[in-house]
Amino acid sequence: MKSLFPLLLILIFNVGTVMPKTKNPLTSYQKKRNFSQTPEPAGKVKKKQSKKLIFVIHKHAARNMHYDVRLEINGVLTSWAIPKGPSTSTRVRHLAIPTEDHPMNYAKFEGVIPKGQYGAGPVMIWDTGTYTNIKKSDNKKVSMKECLKRGTIEVELHGKKLNGAYALIRTKAPGKTYWLLLKMRDAYANKAIPATIKERSAKSGRTMKEIAKDDVSGD
Ligand code: MN
Repeated sequence: MKSLFPLLLILIFNVGTVMPKTKNPLTSYQKKRNFSQTPEPAGKVKKKQSKKLIFVIHKHAARNMHYDVRLEINGVLTSWAIPKGPSTSTRVRHLAIPTEDHPMNYAKFEGVIPKGQYGAGPVMIWDTGTYTNIKKSDNKKVSMKECLKRGTIEVELHGKKLNGAYALIRTKAPGKTYWLLLKMRDAYANKAIPATIKERSAKSGRTMKEIAKDDVSGD
């Protein structure tokens, strides 16, 4: 037994060095941006989960206009770029491309990313609010982390424009993997968003044009 002790130490040491360090989910986000040039927040991973999980949908006039759907999962905003944006119609499925995790305080960001910076162009808080995870399997709740891993997310949004159940589904086609965003059937399905608020910020009431003119800060 005595002779096993050093061996055990060596084993523990080796396992320790081989084990991957806990990855900072914001590394990719932070590497892409120069925070002395962009008004976007550097941010950090939030340790405590919000009492009510939050979501935000940005409208982003980068090289191509798109929407970014972001859900709070494990202290960051897990994000998808949706070229066509969300829809209240149950008859459409819109492509959702996973993008890098964003910090929680990005949910409050509205403004202009300067020319030459990553994602240059105006960013609007198109919708924001809280969400409820409604995914169940065998009648048991499935955590958001697990939903993300399985590629089946079902949430109920409580926003200013979007309400009710939406699903994000990971889909495989030969040679590629992508996600789809779709509206699930419920009382909010197929109800149009009032024109008076549809094209305006849920935070400031501004249009994209008005935000674009404000090239100083987000507030
Ligand atoms: Mn974007």
